[in-house]
Amino acid sequence: MEQQGTLSIKTENIFPIIKKYLYSDHEIFLRELVSNAVDATQKIKKLASIGEYKEELGDLKIKISVNDKAKTITVTDRGIGMTAEEIKKYINEIAFSGVTEFLEKYKKQVDKKPKSNSIGNSKSPIPDPQSETPDLIGHFGLGFYSSFMVADKVEIITKSYQKGAEAVKWSCDGSTEFNISKVVKKERGTEVVVHLAKDSEEFSEKLRVEGILQKYGKFLPVEVEFDGKVVNNTAPLWTKKPNELKDKDYLDFYKELYPFSEDPLFWIHLNVDYPFNLTGVLFFPKIRNDFELHKNKIHLYCRQVFITDEVKDVVPEFLMLLHGVLDSPDIPLNVSRSFLQSDSNVKKINAHITKKVADKLSELFKNEVDVFEKKWDDISIFVKFGMISDEKFYEKAKDFCLLKNIDNKYFTIEEYKKHIEANQKDKDKNLVCLYTTDKGKQDAYIQAARKRSFDVLNMDGSIDKHFIGFLESKSDLPAAQAGKLLLKRIDADTIDKLIDKGDKSESVLSEDEKKKLKELFEKAIDNKNATITIESLASDEAPLTITLPEFMRRMKDMAAMNAMGQITDLPDQFNAVINANHPLMQKIISAKTENKKTAIAKQACDLALLSQNMLSGADLTTFIERSVELISK
Ligand code: ADP
Repeated sequence: MEQQGTLSIKTENIFPIIKKYLYSDHEIFLRELVSNAVDATQKIKKLASIGEYKEELGDLKIKISVNDKAKTITVTDRGIGMTAEEIKKYINEIAFSGVTEFLEKYKKQVDKKPKSNSIGNSKSPIPDPQSETPDLIGHFGLGFYSSFMVADKVEIITKSYQKGAEAVKWSCDGSTEFNISKVVKKERGTEVVVHLAKDSEEFSEKLRVEGILQKYGKFLPVEVEFDGKVVNNTAPLWTKKPNELKDKDYLDFYKELYPFSEDPLFWIHLNVDYPFNLTGVLFFPKIRNDFELHKNKIHLYCRQVFITDEVKDVVPEFLMLLHGVLDSPDIPLNVSRSFLQSDSNVKKINAHITKKVADKLSELFKNEVDVFEKKWDDISIFVKFGMISDEKFYEKAKDFCLLKNIDNKYFTIEEYKKHIEANQKDKDKNLVCLYTTDKGKQDAYIQAARKRSFDVLNMDGSIDKHFIGFLESKSDLPAAQAGKLLLKRIDADTIDKLIDKGDKSESVLSEDEKKKLKELFEKAIDNKNATITIESLASDEAPLTITLPEFMRRMKDMAAMNAMGQITDLPDQFNAVINANHPLMQKIISAKTENKKTAIAKQACDLALLSQNMLSGADLTTFIERSVELISK
């Protein structure tokens, strides 16, 4: 038997196009060939288990070998094999139509995009693959034909499991012609020999192949042998039942996935088979710094074949910070990103993961509140991010989200409201939470709050700037209590203004004295960003306090966080509040010379600026010189 044929296609030469389209991800051809070998092996096992195949199964290992001289890479399996008829049907027709369909979809995708303005390329029928999004590339299971990305010629030598089947060899040199002939092959199964093209000879190098197998094949369900060694773990942790596993198993698995990471805080084992299929383990990592946040860490598998670590859309955004593995045959990988977002399975998977994570946290909070508090600083970023970005998650998390005060005591939101209710209501019945973003730098303000027995929350996390506004928007007090929950940074105003209880302290200065003082300080401060006011504060308050109004500061924070923000350069507006009742004011008033008055005022200003970390450069030098002069007198 010797047969020749032509693959029916519209385009003259399809293989150069495949090659170009899949430019950035050539290595996936090996994943595809090995996946086919795995499928064929699982099929023969299945047939044997139901009694459809009664012969010896033999060693079912899939073997991969390279020949550096001949520049070939070969994938051999002992699966079900194919008859000549099946090759014609599956390889020449069905698989091939898959390729054609891919090209059609791909072209549509490209046509939908706005035209590029580069003039030189406008005539090229093939878009530049490197400028293309990686949506299709690598995600589209091109299967067998992806081997033509790297091959001059591909041969399939196969013998079907069926009784009396004859072994056949199919070969195709990358043109549209193929060849089928009879060959001698003793064992059942398939051997795919890829004759590498000049520009793809790297795939006959041992190290390169080892790397690819590590990436895509680490957890394949059938043993894969390369260079005399089995490269995979066929029963990874997520395929086992949770009740068969110990903590150590999870920790070991985590180390296997992320060798250089600290132990995770805890994990969630997912195991769903209805209405969609999903298994996996998600770990809450210990994050040491913000740089680590944006890495893609969750690995997506489809039946134990690694697909991608870009899990955007499959996992809610706030859970992208988690680590681990998700395995689902129900996630469509061969379509574009926009389709993925609207896919109902993906939506369900997304919602399921969110719910599982919330339940796990809630359970930990209820059953082991001590452990929960200990881990809170590490997990608060997930929880807060989740609450802000997902209403359903918020509904559950609001009961276990903790607030930490500067004495390291933890409260739920409700507990905290009760804690401050008696002492921190203002005259309009608003409940005022005071917070610090930096205990060290804002210490002077914290001490002022302590004098009034006010509680101060620690909000020094990277997400807290967002979270504060969010909390305010969510936490209206129950209808029975009037007023709102307000959050104010400890340096947003003088302490009695932060929580304005309506008590007025009398001024010891006359209006005229106040006016003169104000003018003096205006001259001393001499800064157009400063708003100077004179107020009658308690005499034990600082003579001059620099405050950064809450609203202005939030605007600035927002602009800084939002890379697209137009108002990137807001001025450093601040208030300088002079305490009319501080004894220093009397000293200024009674000072003999104008110079002396100004010197004291300047010194008071600089001290206040210093406590806000706002004194630097030449101003700092002048302050130090003046201070030295003062103590020398
Ligand atoms: P897919 O695997 O997505 O169906 P492929 O193009 O990779 O598409 O393969 C087409 C078909 O060829 C497979 O469905 C299978 O029937 C057959 N095939 C491919 N490789 C093998 C193999 N190693 N053993 C047996 N059959 C195979």
